[in-house]
Amino acid sequence: MLQKLLAKCVKPPKKHLKIDELISQFNSAYGTLSTPIILCQGLEIIAINNTALLFLPDSNKLLNTYIHDAQIITQLFENPLKPVSSFIGDKEFQITATPWGVQPHLWLLEWSEQTNLNRLTEQLRIARNHDPASGALLQGSFDRQLMDHISNISHGRLIVVLLNCEQTSGHGTNHENREDIICQLVNKLSYEFGNEMLISRSEASKLILFITSEHAEEETLLLNQIHRLCKQVLPSTTYDIACAVYPADGNTIEALYSSVNLALTAAQKSTEPTLYYAQLRKNEYRLQQLAKDMPAAISSNQITPYFQPIIDSTSGNIKSFEALVRWIHPDLGYIIPPDIIQVAQGLGLLHMLTAHIMQQTMKQMAKWPDFVQFAVNVTPSQLTDELVDLVRETVRSANIDPGRFEIEVTEDALIQDFEFSAQIFARLRAIGVAIAMDDFGAGYTSIGNLRKLEFTKIKIDKSISDGLPHDNKSVAIVKSLMFMARELDVEITVEGIEEQDQLEFLRAFNCGVQGYVFARPMPAIDMPEMMKFISPKHQKTKQTIVGIGPKKKRIITR
Ligand code: C2E
Ligand code: MG
Ligand code: MG
Repeated sequence: MLQKLLAKCVKPPKKHLKIDELISQFNSAYGTLSTPIILCQGLEIIAINNTALLFLPDSNKLLNTYIHDAQIITQLFENPLKPVSSFIGDKEFQITATPWGVQPHLWLLEWSEQTNLNRLTEQLRIARNHDPASGALLQGSFDRQLMDHISNISHGRLIVVLLNCEQTSGHGTNHENREDIICQLVNKLSYEFGNEMLISRSEASKLILFITSEHAEEETLLLNQIHRLCKQVLPSTTYDIACAVYPADGNTIEALYSSVNLALTAAQKSTEPTLYYAQLRKNEYRLQQLAKDMPAAISSNQITPYFQPIIDSTSGNIKSFEALVRWIHPDLGYIIPPDIIQVAQGLGLLHMLTAHIMQQTMKQMAKWPDFVQFAVNVTPSQLTDELVDLVRETVRSANIDPGRFEIEVTEDALIQDFEFSAQIFARLRAIGVAIAMDDFGAGYTSIGNLRKLEFTKIKIDKSISDGLPHDNKSVAIVKSLMFMARELDVEITVEGIEEQDQLEFLRAFNCGVQGYVFARPMPAIDMPEMMKFISPKHQKTKQTIVGIGPKKKRIITR
């Protein structure tokens, strides 16, 4: 009752109020209500409404003068929202404590008299709807209430949790033990979550619960709380918790049950106690489907590079292109590159995928003038001898100038094994290909280490360029990186440029610019359109850049 009032009309104070302000707010909210309610700060009674005055004379100002049993008081405050029974004279009351507002130790206590009729009605209601052994709701009643909640939910979410605590001894399921565990779990959950959570027994060793929530963070907290609680009750038993969220995992009771059951099956694959979200199962299923389809998608060129131009900040002409893997899956739609890479890695197909992207890129390179470079990304884990062999072989069989070909690798590659990465860089440079440090600024590269590496370009990460041109810190970082690049004799490309004013700012620096402001990554078929953005002067002279690198940069005209 009080919960509904609090939720619907009576706003608890949001800031610290003085005692007289509290009393006045209490009186205007509850003063004339027919339910007896009092306001306490700890044990001290601050205000009493008219109905409560009928049995709590105003003269007593401490709660323990009415409730003599200290244990009952402890129970009341340690277990908010859960009714506790106490006698005043020969009358029995159910008292429910609810925290009020933001002030600590401020409680509203709702009193309801337990007449024989009340008690009988309550017992009948409980008997009709609850499992007598565990006290959990019967499934029919649980389903009805879940359906009611779903149909009344206007915003926010709801989580359905399936909790399996299979307790097996050497001789099969230990019935007594299981019953005991289920009862303990129901008690603990009701104690911890009160009326907010509905609990039902879905099978012998399974409980199903639901609770409303506002956002995902709240759900994580709730689930961790349930997890912790299970650990306490079941320290030596394995258990699994599966969770499905309304509306993301289903917007009907059937869909939610199906999601949560499938999630539980996934959770049970692990021998450890597991907390499993239905969303994860969906992802897993999706990744499995991608894995199944990937080999054919590579060989049929369904997985293919798109190309994004990088322009010269001063002239606006195209300098180079970056190849970015794309997969438009016929059923699952656009697959983001990190997923493609993850699946390829899981299947041991990353080498094959990279070889495919490189070959498609070489095909494109053959159509463009010699001064236009092309870059391909590799993951840090690919910095191996195998990559060096692949690059050498691909460049050789395509018969292109290695100086036109660039390998992009993110700076976190260096964290894994600096010395080994440095060797691979050197061997790639020996082939003549260029090396770009991708996403520079997003990781933790030590500037000191940079001088030990042979690379030819730094690509400043979008997280830094986003602040251009107005954020002073971003401007300072970009300027100092420009200075550093000049000193190291390497090129700079600034990534993720979306706005004209960012481009204007970079015009003063002689650097590369990559971003939606000029063009998004495009399929090979659209590439001829881009020809008009290369400088006519360059088209005639056909220059090739070779041996770019510390103090080796020179242009050879062919
Ligand atoms: P990256 O190498 O840093 O590539 C740049 C990413 O920024 C690309 O995302 C590109 O589409 C996006 N981008 C370019 N300009 C803008 C802009 O103005 N605004 C915004 N918001 N984004 C922009 P994409 O294609 O989704 O690729 C993400 C990452 O996946 C790449 O980051 C790269 O690390 C990796 N990746 C892409 N293709 C491959 C590949 O063939 N092999 C490997 N190993 N990794 C790849
Ligand atoms: Mg890149
Ligand atoms: Mg990048």
